[in-house]
Amino acid sequence: MNAHGGGRERLIVVSNRLPFTFRQDAGGRWCAEPGGGGLVTALLPVLRNRGGMWIGWTGAAGDSGALSEALASAGAGAGYRLEGVALTAEEMEKFYLGFSNEIIWPLFHDLQSLCNFDPAYWRTYCDVNAKYADAVLAHAKPADFIWVHDYHLMNVAAELRRRGVHSRLGFFLHIPFPSPDLFMKLPWRLSLLQALLEYDLVGFQTADDRRNFVQCARLLVKDAQFEGRGHVLVARLGRREVRIGAFPISIDYAAFQRRAGTPEVTEMAAELHRRLPERKLILGIDRLDYTKGIPLRLKAFENLLERSPDLRERVSFIQVVVPSREDIPEYHRLRSEIEQLVGHINGRFARPGGWVPIWYEYRSLSRLELLAYYRAADIGLITPLKDGMNLVAKEYCTCSIEEDCVLILSEFAGAAAQLYRGALLVNPYDIEGVADAIRRAYAMEPAERHARMRRMRNSIREHDVFWWVDSFLRAAITKDLRAFPQPHGQPAEDATEYQLPF
Ligand code: UDP
Repeated sequence: MNAHGGGRERLIVVSNRLPFTFRQDAGGRWCAEPGGGGLVTALLPVLRNRGGMWIGWTGAAGDSGALSEALASAGAGAGYRLEGVALTAEEMEKFYLGFSNEIIWPLFHDLQSLCNFDPAYWRTYCDVNAKYADAVLAHAKPADFIWVHDYHLMNVAAELRRRGVHSRLGFFLHIPFPSPDLFMKLPWRLSLLQALLEYDLVGFQTADDRRNFVQCARLLVKDAQFEGRGHVLVARLGRREVRIGAFPISIDYAAFQRRAGTPEVTEMAAELHRRLPERKLILGIDRLDYTKGIPLRLKAFENLLERSPDLRERVSFIQVVVPSREDIPEYHRLRSEIEQLVGHINGRFARPGGWVPIWYEYRSLSRLELLAYYRAADIGLITPLKDGMNLVAKEYCTCSIEEDCVLILSEFAGAAAQLYRGALLVNPYDIEGVADAIRRAYAMEPAERHARMRRMRNSIREHDVFWWVDSFLRAAITKDLRAFPQPHGQPAEDATEYQLPF
């Protein structure tokens, strides 16, 4: 870890789930399968070089004692220790499904009407965050740097401080932070904000999220003073100093680019074009989630076919929906709505002899399929109503190795703050506007496609997930913040003013 210089501190990562899935084999023995994902890949070198540990829920209900052997051997293979946090079925229901996913998730994605502000959820959230703090206390040494991830664990620093821990604590929020008018609806707004201010560094995806946080803190925490300019601001609370930064998360660009060019991926992408010949392929890939804007996107595609009959049989829309959170009723309803819309649009426009406008899949793709879909698609259609970052947008651009594809991107995705110079930005609520953008992407000249895609790919390459880890850790340890480098392409900003970058 370059950013940590010559110190002896280890990195302790704390997240809701461990980066492994644990399953029992036929003989009842627990075994671990590594979870993929850029975050794990990016943290791995730091964890291995400095020694470290990952603390999180194992994914299995009840006592994690039965898993201790599997944890130890998975950790030995991975090169860092794994410590499991045990959660009961009731805790999972009220902390994970309840507080995290029925309150914070919708509220922080600007969908307040979907929130269920059940007070029992808050109590369990506090208890479970205390459990994670106990696990950290049991394993961390004072010199360690403790990096807590995401909205499930906002209270961990406050619980650790209550237990007398003075170690340096960092927090990164992977989802957006809402504006004050939304955040103020949260019954536990002050406790939560004060808890976040117990970290030494709080990181957000975009300058916009950080501005929202600073505005909320100004309103609610009267003695906080904000100062500084640039990438990392400082909040002073008496003698304490909390750094507040924006660090857009990213992907392992080199790995995606390399794998996208392999013969297997190239062949599978060509096979998709053979099956859907003589037309442009439009691609949407999303987890099943109401924040992803899938029904509105389908309506925009319908609007395109309605208003542009010349594009019928000239385009196919591949929409992949990856199953997610199926235990929450809202997600069930969403799936039915999507499938009804797909049926309605296909029923309305399909032609005898072959052309079906929407190719819909409700499943997880293999890595090979995912890359082949990215490679094959001429137009990426990514229109979330709100998204912390949206890695699919970055992966899609990275896999466009010929740099001849077009990205249509919601202006409410965190990725828009970085990709606005290359993407066609749309308001996902504007059905005709999205349809017009598809038409424009369809007709875009090769020179413009190349220029736009090159700009986006350069930005993603320069700010990959390794850059993200490094800049977060640097912001945590750099003594003089004035020397902190300004990331390329990000607007300079001070504690009082902020302008939309597009
Ligand atoms: N993804 C996946 N399986 C699939 C399709 C996608 O694991 O079948 C991955 C994709 O590569 C991306 C992630 O899921 O890294 C989705 O991240 P994103 O930030 O776009 O949205 P999130 O689901 O985190 O809200």
